[in-house]
Amino acid sequence: EPDAALAPLEFAVTKNLAAKSPAVREEILRDPGFGTHFTDHMVDVCWSARGGWHRPRVQPYGPISLDPAAAVLHYGQEIFEGIKAYRHADGGIYTFRPEQNALRLQRSARRLALPELPTSYFLQSLHELIAVDGGWVPSGEDQSLYLRPFMFAKEAFLGVRPANKVAYYLIASPAGSYFTGGVKPVKIWLSETYQRAAKGGTGAAKTGGNYAASLLPQAEAYEQGCDQVVFLDSDGNIEELGGMNILFVKKDGTLLTPSSDSILDGITRNSILELARDRGLTVEQRAVSLAEWREGVASGDITEVFACGTAAVITPIGALKAAGFEDEQPIGELALSLREELTDIQTGRREDTRGWLH
Ligand code: PMP
Repeated sequence: EPDAALAPLEFAVTKNLAAKSPAVREEILRDPGFGTHFTDHMVDVCWSARGGWHRPRVQPYGPISLDPAAAVLHYGQEIFEGIKAYRHADGGIYTFRPEQNALRLQRSARRLALPELPTSYFLQSLHELIAVDGGWVPSGEDQSLYLRPFMFAKEAFLGVRPANKVAYYLIASPAGSYFTGGVKPVKIWLSETYQRAAKGGTGAAKTGGNYAASLLPQAEAYEQGCDQVVFLDSDGNIEELGGMNILFVKKDGTLLTPSSDSILDGITRNSILELARDRGLTVEQRAVSLAEWREGVASGDITEVFACGTAAVITPIGALKAAGFEDEQPIGELALSLREELTDIQTGRREDTRGWLH
């Protein structure tokens, strides 16, 4: 169904009478951290197999009441998104390529047998929340309001089948600088015991189960003194980190990144590839084996390795550690220069010539 044909939803708005005072909010926005503070409101829309999308609401942020038999609690039928809203110097509030998040939520929905939220409803939900909680978008350096849309099976039924009752929610959390003391190269742990995703599995969907499966290897990484995990596929090819995509810079200026059906199609990565092409760099998306990575670093053919995603934008990788080796990674200048270009566009310091801001 083309979105243009859809009438906008009519949200019923219930204001939070216990909303935080501007003074308390300002105090939180001074140093919001990540993911611990939430705004005063949330958006939700119901879906049922019979009635489609209905009962759109903006209501006070608070606990959700669920039947203990709700399918999501048993079979994990759930998907989510992550997107940041930035306050520009002119006071305006902008999101970065939100229609891409809307489309990815639809792709995730298809894989998890959930209903597809029309992109216009998705965008409308962002507008509705920002309309009541816009004061929560911080304006400090590297600060943003992290928006978290999610959808889950709420039907109370213990049979294993797609739920006939589903809820879509949107909550928001002010986010500060991901890095304290500048962008530091991270050390990553190569998980050889655990895989994140399989061919034909759910790796390309943003679903909670993928992240649940990454927690144990992530704990292993911490034990090894590493910050993040990099996962391989069953053929020994590089996939991605637990919550970020990976890119390699080659001596000849090529930007190389894995192509795989079992990784998340990152919006940050796609944007970086576009910026790189516009700089005249060659972009290669294909299978990258662990051997190619290690040999490339050893021979000097690979000059930089970095990870990217909405939360941390671009992070250089400084070392790769595994059970049998530890490879220092070369540090170059391309990652930080792309990071600057991207964040300049997102925060309005550089003109948005591609129509990426909404
Ligand atoms: N891979 C995974 C597994 C992720 O969770 C994320 C974060 N959404 C990414 C890659 C990066 O995607 P994006 O650039 O769209 O944030």
